[in-house]
Amino acid sequence: MPELPEVEAVRRRLNPVMRDARFDQVILRREGLRRPFPHDFARRLRGRTVRSVNRRGKYLLADLSSGETLLMHLGMSGSFRISQRRNGGAARRRTADVVRPHDHVTFEMSSGASVTFNDPRRFGVMDLAPSSDLGKHPALGAIGPEPLSPAFSGAALARAVAGKRTSLKAALLDQRVVAGVGNIYASEALHLAGLSPRQQARSIATPSGEPRPSANRLAAAIKTVLREAIDRRSAGPYRESRFRVYDREGQLCARTGCRGTIRRITQTGRSTFYCGACQKR
Ligand SMILES: [Zn+2]
Repeated sequence: MPELPEVEAVRRRLNPVMRDARFDQVILRREGLRRPFPHDFARRLRGRTVRSVNRRGKYLLADLSSGETLLMHLGMSGSFRISQRRNGGAARRRTADVVRPHDHVTFEMSSGASVTFNDPRRFGVMDLAPSSDLGKHPALGAIGPEPLSPAFSGAALARAVAGKRTSLKAALLDQRVVAGVGNIYASEALHLAGLSPRQQARSIATPSGEPRPSANRLAAAIKTVLREAIDRRSAGPYRESRFRVYDREGQLCARTGCRGTIRRITQTGRSTFYCGACQKR
């Protein structure tokens, strides 16, 4: 499932072709994705201009001139394909792009770009919500701080996990604790911070919810692994694995001076990768 860096990379591709552009045509090839499309979906988009494409956690948010925001989530297998129509802006020209299996939605933008959402497993989401009330949307209301914003710090992390007996790894997957972190980058951040994924989440906070040094280390590590991943994604399409621990079971730990081996365990039904030697707690 795409995590924050993958969604941010998509945002950076969509924003240049959608920002300041109108929806000339909205082509829906089915009734919905994970859920039905919102009422009058195509009509509420057609003729509207996108002010900018933003991101909150794993959601893409297109801010529209109508006062509504188009929410988009990639689900498990969603992706966007951008193609240029032969005559940019000419609505009667058909798209140069061929329709492929699982192409569910196409936006023909006045910029000349066709933006197609393809999603074989159909766990993706498209919804519309009033821009002034986004915090009331069920998907966004309870979401925690953006990890790359100043609002996310060791103190914020400690407050969010104070008293939690769940594992530190499971706490990082909770979108109310921090937005956008998933299975891969939780493992990566814990390794960089040198913390065991198995320790109780509350162990990084004092009983009154103040950050211990480990909370500051972990918050900084989350920012670092996400920034590095965004830079990698933006650099090109190469999906070469440069993970520290993720999917590296049985390999030697990459930390300088550590002679440990990466292990895989299952926590709350998901794989966790960590080094038993340098991630004691
Ligand atoms: Zn190690």
